[in-house]
Amino acid sequence: MTSVAERPGEECDSVVPASATRDLGAVVDDLEIVSRFERDDVEVLAERALGRARELGLAELEKRAGLVLADRLRRRGNVAEAGRRAQETLRWAVEHGAGHLQARAHHLLAGAFQELGDLSQALEHAVRAADMLADDAPHQLRIDHHARLADCLGLNGDLVARERYDHVLALAEEIGDVERQVLVLNNRTYCETISGHYDEALVWSARLQEVSARHGVPLRAGRLDTIGRALMELGRLEDAEAAMLPGLHPEVLDASLDGDAGADFLLTLAELRRRRGNLAGAQENLDECVRRCERHGLTSIRVRARREQAELHAAAGRYRHAFEEHKLFTDEFMELQSADRDARARALQAMYETAEARRQTRRYRELSLRDPLTGLYNRRFVDDELPRVLGEPAAAAGSVTVALLDLDHFKRINDTCSHEIGDRVLRAVAQLLVETDPANADSAYAGSFVARLGGEEFLLVVAGLAPGAAVRHLEEVRRTVAAQPWDELTGDLPVTVSIGAASTDGLDSPAASDMLARADARLYTAKRQGRDRVVSEAG
Ligand code: GH3
Ligand code: MG
Ligand code: MG
Repeated sequence: MTSVAERPGEECDSVVPASATRDLGAVVDDLEIVSRFERDDVEVLAERALGRARELGLAELEKRAGLVLADRLRRRGNVAEAGRRAQETLRWAVEHGAGHLQARAHHLLAGAFQELGDLSQALEHAVRAADMLADDAPHQLRIDHHARLADCLGLNGDLVARERYDHVLALAEEIGDVERQVLVLNNRTYCETISGHYDEALVWSARLQEVSARHGVPLRAGRLDTIGRALMELGRLEDAEAAMLPGLHPEVLDASLDGDAGADFLLTLAELRRRRGNLAGAQENLDECVRRCERHGLTSIRVRARREQAELHAAAGRYRHAFEEHKLFTDEFMELQSADRDARARALQAMYETAEARRQTRRYRELSLRDPLTGLYNRRFVDDELPRVLGEPAAAAGSVTVALLDLDHFKRINDTCSHEIGDRVLRAVAQLLVETDPANADSAYAGSFVARLGGEEFLLVVAGLAPGAAVRHLEEVRRTVAAQPWDELTGDLPVTVSIGAASTDGLDSPAASDMLARADARLYTAKRQGRDRVVSEAG
């Protein structure tokens, strides 16, 4: 994977030893791969990596570690904060051209929007997360990004999800990643269950059990819950209970990050046992479920537990209790729904605002690099871009010509005509410079650009042309300006330009300031020699 942090640039000065960057890069690569699993040390390791990256000034690695932490937040239930951080990271990644980071941020956002119930946004981010992942990204991440895309498609009720699941499952099998096989099989089973395809769900839940048995990996509570639900929906109550029993083991029940998988599991088991007539067993599971809800603050499962409690009372003939519990359920359910709606709305709002800020920043950034009068690039752009063009390997191989162009006797035009006419002349000259810019006609001249440095002075950078050809091009520019029918604007006053040019030929990455100074000296010579000319040799 190439990353911004590995390229010399503003975030990474050469003082950081390459080995330190590589080591930390490997740590963050690993964290991204394991972060979706319930390992206790992920937070600690990610915090440490983040601190180290900050110390070394490796901004991209810092952001990647930050995303790992944000994703953990999401899974612990703080979806809004996780989403906000992912949006911010996405903005940074777009501005810095950090493709891998963009893919990771989109991946997190897909998960966040999915949890907030905005499936169309989730799908959009999932598509981008899959698209933007580089071809040489680790297989595990490829599986994760494409599996989330399958989830989003599946939750949208789109049957293409099935092909996607097949594809990622094959990938997970190919690399022998059992944890990811289990994950994909679980999500597929879940998707089939919620879209009412119980028979399909059953096929996949059987495969899920089979993979877990073959590899000796016990399925966690959440997975067993998925299987139990699928079987229960098909009326296969006995099989469902048998499938779920391993989940009662404390190690399995307590393995989830936020405790909700365990509580959910117990609730399903309680329902299952009630339907099988084992009311005492059901009550026991339900009591334990409620204890967990209270310990972990799991409001929504607590409310669903009330409905199950009402059913249990009714099954035992305690109708008055059933009625009272059901009333509690209804009240709390309504309350929860409106609280959920508010929280969801707030979280979505925060995420949309950050997305909007990102678009705005991009626009302002682009505007801040432009000269308002002519629309050409301005000096700020030149300060960034010229050193880059001069440092490109292409510049060493071919050559770059830096030319300063200044209008002749421009003061006369302002004084004789008007300042406004002067402005129009400047705009017209700018237009001619754009039209004759070789970069516009042919992408081979990438790196060529024109800019307005200020006043009536322009910069032309010609990359990829030999010095002789570049000077011929500048001559052509000069002739084109002089040959325009200026009389409509300026009457008798001619409009001509003087140009001083310097080439990088024979120089080893010259400084931008040196190139500009040489061009400026030649511009001065052109003026002294009578204007309306190009000077490219010292003299
Ligand atoms: P030379 O041939 O030696 O370059 O003579 P000049 O008159 O072009 O040069 P000088 O530097 O004396 O004058 C430049 C003038 O350009 C002075 C200034 O008022 C005018 N100018 C600078 N910026 C603008 C602008 O944005 N619009 C207009 N209309 N005039 C501008
Ligand atoms: Mg001038
Ligand atoms: Mg001038």
